[in-house]
Amino acid sequence: MKVGDLEIVPIVDGTGREYAREVLSAPGGDRWACHPDQLDDHGDLVLTLGGFLLRTGDRTVLVDAGVGRIHNDHYDGGGFLEALAATGTAPGDVTDVVFTHLHFDHVGWATSRGEVVFPRATYRVHTADWAHFVDAPDADPGAVRKLAPLRERLEVFDAEHTVAPGLDARPTPGHTPGSTSYVVSSRGERALLIGDVAHSVVELAEPDWEAVFDVDPAAARAIRHRLADELADTDDLVAAAHFPGLAFGRVVTVGESRRFVTV
Ligand SMILES: [Zn+2]
Repeated sequence: MKVGDLEIVPIVDGTGREYAREVLSAPGGDRWACHPDQLDDHGDLVLTLGGFLLRTGDRTVLVDAGVGRIHNDHYDGGGFLEALAATGTAPGDVTDVVFTHLHFDHVGWATSRGEVVFPRATYRVHTADWAHFVDAPDADPGAVRKLAPLRERLEVFDAEHTVAPGLDARPTPGHTPGSTSYVVSSRGERALLIGDVAHSVVELAEPDWEAVFDVDPAAARAIRHRLADELADTDDLVAAAHFPGLAFGRVVTVGESRRFVTV
C-alpha cells in the first residue's frame, strides 16, 4: 500500500481461528447476526497473522513478527520469512522490529530456538508491555523464553515518538498495557497500523464490543472510540494486525453507522 512516497507491504505468516461468539461480544446481547459476512461457516472469526514491512530512508522496518511455526487447532503459521523473501528482504536486512504489543501472535519470529531471527535489528516495544510480559513475577514462562533473547537488542519507549522518517509510534494502551499504534506518513498522506486495537473490522464500526483478549477492556474501548472518531470520513488509511488479508481500508460513515471499507 502506497502512502505518499512510502510503501507498506503486508507480510502474511498464517491464519488463526477463534469462535467469534466466545471472543468478541456486544454489550447487552449477541449482535453477530448483524455481521454475518465477518464469520465463516462455523461461526469462526478468521484472523490473518503476520506483520508489515516498511522501508524508509536507510531503514527496513517490520511492524510485528507473526505467530511463528505454530500448528494447532486454532493457529497455523510459518510463512513469514518466505513472504519476506518474496519482497527481496533477508532477515539480515531488517534494521528495526517494532511491536504493537507482545502477545504470542505478534512475536512469533522475534526469536527462534533462543536466537534472534533478525540479527541486525533493534527491537522496539513499549516499556509497559516488556514489564507485563517479561519482567513481571507472574509472566508466562513461554513468553519469557520467547522474548528474553531480545534483551540485548531491545529499546523500550514510554511516549509518542518518531521511530524512523515517516514512522511514528503512538501508545494506544488497553488491549495490553503498552499497546502501540504506528503512524506512517508521507507527503500529507497517512496510514495507521493499529495492532489489536481492533481484532475484527466490526470493532471499528462498533467500538463498544468487547474482546476477551483485552487486558483493560474499558481503556481498550476508549482507545477504539478515539481512533475510530479520528479516522472516520478522512483519507487516512488503517490496517489492523488481523483484518482479513491484512487489508488496508478507510472508516466511512454510511447513514447512521460506520463501516471499514477496504481500498
Ligand atoms: Zn493479535
